Amino acid sequence: MSFQAPKGTFDWMPPRSEWALIVRDALSAPARRAGYGYIETPAFEDTGLFARGVGESTDIVTKEMYTFQSKGGQSLTLRPEGTASVVRAVLEHGLYGGALPIKLWYSGSYFRYEKAQAGRYRHFSQVGAEALGAEDPALDAELIVLASDGYASLGLKNVRLLINSLGCKECRPAYRAALQDFLRGLDLDEATRQRIEINPLRILDDKRPEVQAQLVDAPLVTDHLCGACKAYHEEVRSLLTGAGLTYSDDPRLVRGLDYYTRTTFEFIHDGLGAQSAVGGGGRYDGLSEMIGGPALPSVGWALGVDRTVLAMEAEGLLTERPGQVEVFAVPLGEEARRRIFSLVAELRRDGIAVDMAFGGRGVKGAMKAADRSGARFALILGERDIEAGAVQVKDLTTGEQTAVPLAGVVDVLKGKLS
Ligand code: AMP
Repeated sequence: MSFQAPKGTFDWMPPRSEWALIVRDALSAPARRAGYGYIETPAFEDTGLFARGVGESTDIVTKEMYTFQSKGGQSLTLRPEGTASVVRAVLEHGLYGGALPIKLWYSGSYFRYEKAQAGRYRHFSQVGAEALGAEDPALDAELIVLASDGYASLGLKNVRLLINSLGCKECRPAYRAALQDFLRGLDLDEATRQRIEINPLRILDDKRPEVQAQLVDAPLVTDHLCGACKAYHEEVRSLLTGAGLTYSDDPRLVRGLDYYTRTTFEFIHDGLGAQSAVGGGGRYDGLSEMIGGPALPSVGWALGVDRTVLAMEAEGLLTERPGQVEVFAVPLGEEARRRIFSLVAELRRDGIAVDMAFGGRGVKGAMKAADRSGARFALILGERDIEAGAVQVKDLTTGEQTAVPLAGVVDVLKGKLS
C-alpha cells in the first residue's frame, strides 16, 4: 500500500524547499529589525477562540475549520490563522499590563478546509506580525512598510499594495445599514441574501461576476467614515507615502475575517491567477474584547509563504539553487575515506558547507556526485596523496587541479571561497 500527501497539501522538497526557508527568513527579517519578538503558539486551540475571534459568520469558521474532539471531550481546532492565538497568548500572559505596544512575530503552519487549487492549500504557511495595545497610525504604517520591505528584499517587483479603512464602532454601523439597504434591493441567491443580515461587507468580496455586476453602485465605506477614522486613515496614507510606498485605495477591500476595524490592506501579485493575495492584514481594535480581554487596539498582518514562493517563480527569481554545498570530498580507498571523513568534519566546524561521497561507488560515480552537488571545489584524496601529505583541490568550474598540503587545506579553501 502506498500513501500520498492528503488532498490540498504538498511536500516541500529540496531544492525548492530552500526557497520556503529563504522566504520565511526574508519576510520576518524587517519585523525582527523593528523590535518584534518571536512568539510560538500551539497549532491547535479551543474551538471557541476561533469561533469568537475570527467570527461566526466567516467562511473560515462556518466551512473551513479542522475541528476535532480531544480524548477529554474538549472541542479543538487546528489554527486557521494566527492572530486570535497571539491575542489569546498576550491575554493569558498578562502582557497588556506592561509596555505597549507589544510587538510579536511568528511563522508556522495554518489549516483551512478550502477548495484546493493552485495557490490555495489546506495546509499552508504564513509569517505574521502583530502590534498590540496602541492606536497610532504610525503603527499601522510601520507594519505595512515592514511587509513591503520583506517582499522587496526577495527581489519581487510586482507586488501591489491595496489599502482601505473599514471605520470603527462609531461609523461602521451606519455604513453597514446603508449597505444592507442597497443589497436587499439586488437579485441575489438565498445564501447571499442571508449573508446580508449577518455579514454584509463580505458580499463586496464576492468574486462571482453576476454579483460584482450588481455592486457597481454599492455605497462605499470611505464615504461613511467618521471624522476620527478619516483623519486616522489620511495619516496612515501620508506616512506610507513619506516612506516611499506606492499604493492604491480600494474602497471594496473588506477581507475575510470579522475582526477588522479601520486600516485594512492586502498585497497582491498579478502573476498568480485567481489566488493573487500574497499577504494582508489590518487593525483589529475589538478582537481582545471579543475573546474576553480588555480593550487592546491592535494591528497586524499575515504573509503567505507558499504564494510568495510562487510569486518569485512567476518573476523568474528562482534561478539559483540554494542550499548547495561548497565543497565535495572524494576519497579513493579505505584509508583515504577515514582521513577525509575527519577533514570534512573539520571543514564543517570551520563553517564551510561540505558533503562527501558515500557508498564506495568508485572514482567515476564519486566525481559525478561531486558535479551534481553543485559544489565549487572537489577535494580528492588518493593513496599517493596520503604518502605526500597532500590533497588534490579541483575547481569544478574550470577543471583546474592543484595539490595542497593537508595541514593547510582548510585555510586554502577558506581563501578560495571568500
Ligand atoms: P488571510 O489570513 O486569509 O488574510 O491570509 C493571509 C495570507 O496567507 C494570504 O494573503 C495568502 O498569501 C496566505 N493564504 C491564506 N490562505 C491560504 C491558503 N489556503 N493557501 C495558501 N496560502 C494562503
